[in-house]
Amino acid sequence: MGRFFEALKAGIAGFNDGNEPGDYEVAGRPVRCPHCGHQKFVSGHALLNTKGRTFFKLDWTDPSASTLICAECGRVEWFIQEPDRVQS
Ligand SMILES: [Zn+2]
Repeated sequence: MGRFFEALKAGIAGFNDGNEPGDYEVAGRPVRCPHCGHQKFVSGHALLNTKGRTFFKLDWTDPSASTLICAECGRVEWFIQEPDRVQS
């Protein structure tokens, strides 16, 4: 799984800040991986296609979403708002 994550990280390095995994909060609550319970994530951004935005009634938003990728298992969490990075 470590190699998988390194490959994933290398793959997304082009469109995130290349930052190290860290703790994040959304709406004042710590983000926790629902799969493995890990709390370190790598942030990134992904474009939403028009179809998806219409489905979620988000046509008024900027056409991008924030993603947090679990540093442990690689699960991707999506947020419309920018997660706050928690300084440790
Ligand atoms: Zn996880």
